Amino acid sequence: MLSKIGYRIKTIIFLKSLRLRIFVIVMLAGIVPAVCLRYGIMNNYEEQAVEQRIATVQNQLMVLANHLISNNYLTNYQSKEQSFQTSKEVINAELEMLSSLYEGRVLIINNNYKVIKDTYGISEGKIIISEEVLKCFLGQNSSHYDKEHGYIEMTTPIVRTIRNADDSGKNSNKAASGEIVGVMLTSVTGENIVATLDKMNRKADILELILVVIIISLAIVLSGVLTRPFHKITLSINEVKEGYSDKEISVPDYIETERIADAFNQLLGRMKVLDDSRQEFVANVSHELKTPMASIKVLAESLLSQEDVPAELYREFMEDMASEIDRENQIITDLLALVKMDKKAQALNIAALDINHLTELILKRLRPLARKKDVEVVFESMRPVVAEVDEVKLSIVMTNLVENAIKYNREHGWVKVTLDADHQYFSFRVSDSGMGIPQEELGHIYERFYRVDKSHSKEIGGTGLGLAITRSAVLAHKGTINVESTEGEGSVFVVKIPLTYIA
Ligand code: ADP
Repeated sequence: MLSKIGYRIKTIIFLKSLRLRIFVIVMLAGIVPAVCLRYGIMNNYEEQAVEQRIATVQNQLMVLANHLISNNYLTNYQSKEQSFQTSKEVINAELEMLSSLYEGRVLIINNNYKVIKDTYGISEGKIIISEEVLKCFLGQNSSHYDKEHGYIEMTTPIVRTIRNADDSGKNSNKAASGEIVGVMLTSVTGENIVATLDKMNRKADILELILVVIIISLAIVLSGVLTRPFHKITLSINEVKEGYSDKEISVPDYIETERIADAFNQLLGRMKVLDDSRQEFVANVSHELKTPMASIKVLAESLLSQEDVPAELYREFMEDMASEIDRENQIITDLLALVKMDKKAQALNIAALDINHLTELILKRLRPLARKKDVEVVFESMRPVVAEVDEVKLSIVMTNLVENAIKYNREHGWVKVTLDADHQYFSFRVSDSGMGIPQEELGHIYERFYRVDKSHSKEIGGTGLGLAITRSAVLAHKGTINVESTEGEGSVFVVKIPLTYIA
């Protein structure tokens, strides 16, 4: 069963191959015109040959018909007169010669439809009232080629010319008219036409066979050559995939392959950038995690190296170690939050939420931190806002922005949170009177582990992950985040999120 399915799949793949299609097209383009040409030539030859044969025989029959008339063959055929008998014999001989020349048969029919002469001698005296004979008496010659039996049948009128005297003018003219007094029904062989056709057919068969062989070879070669660039591209991509090469691929044979190669190279470039940033991230994570561990180790070792350490020193070192462990814990918590946020597949837990209420809750939670630094936090709500958001993720956004505004503020400073909305978006704006961010650093603050002033940040206690998490959460809501800042004066972060969630 499985092998059957495998066979089917292989057949379908084979039928879908470009090579097979090119092969079929070349075959059709070569063979169909050749076959048409052959049948055209054969049919044309046959028609011409038959027409020519009819014309030649008709000519001779006309001459014979004149002889018949001039010798009164039709009217006197029963006469025993010596002179008529002689001319009758002459005409009969002519008839015999004609029929033997064309391997045919001539019947002479008089106006009573009676056969008065049959070169085969079997139908004499019989009456023939066939359609062709009747038509011929009415003046319509006919000829018919019987392809199957290989003979041509034709009728020829025997016309007697009547001359009428016209006496009206000085120069008396003689007008002539004709009367059909008999019909010659002739059949001649068309076998030599058939034989020539057979010969031509045999030659055409051989030629066609040679042509088919040439076209098949051409189709095989062409289909191979034309599809080669696509094999090249597959090989190059495979080399990159298997890791033998990380160079950009180039197959300039066709515009199409060039475009595929370009698209692949761009993808490769993106993958390299992703890989580089992943490596950088891992290096940064390791470094950030190692720093508190190294401090803990130094603290522990210095305690161990001393004997009779006073209890206060012990306590002080232990407190330092605990704060390093807290920091380590904070980094790990932030990292986990970031990883969660980056998981694209993770669905948002969207619900309609009172944003004013959420903001108040968050500010309430952060006020003790502000109080510690003597920073005043003001909330200005322009209107009630209800939006479809993920509560947890939006809380992270608000908390991070307000926490930063407090953390990177000066003593006795202020933080102002403004909530506003239009018909499409609500905006969450956090401005502070803090240290600000240098203009050249603004582009980097959303990068993971990026801190403007490392020593300062460390003392404040940041991990450099807060804004990266914030930005991911905003983007997950299809929102935007912007910052404006003046060094030494303060910063303004504005987050805009659609009121209705767009999936
Ligand atoms: P951290 O955990 O260090 O605060 P963030 O990603 O939240 O990391 O912020 C990155 C850097 O941006 C911070 O180290 C800080 O230097 C700067 N920053 C963020 N918010 C503010 C702000 N309101 N005022 C001044 N600097 C800020």
